[in-house]
Amino acid sequence: MSLSKEEINELVRLVSLTNDEEIDCERCLSLVAEFAERKLAGHSIPAELAAVAHHLSICAECSEEYALLLQMMNG
Ligand SMILES: [Zn+2]
Repeated sequence: MSLSKEEINELVRLVSLTNDEEIDCERCLSLVAEFAERKLAGHSIPAELAAVAHHLSICAECSEEYALLLQMMNG
């Protein structure tokens, strides 16, 4: 399970929006569902959720969780 190139590019774009805000896995996982919903709905990502994008770009475990979530939501 891995993110597509487009998804990674989008994450990288979102990461550039953050102000070096770091969150931990627990915080990321508490926000990742909302993040995924907004992504799928095509809504903009608020600054707080951009921190999720940053975490997903550096944390394999959470990005896998995110990929599974997207797959479930798309299904
Ligand atoms: Zn994590």
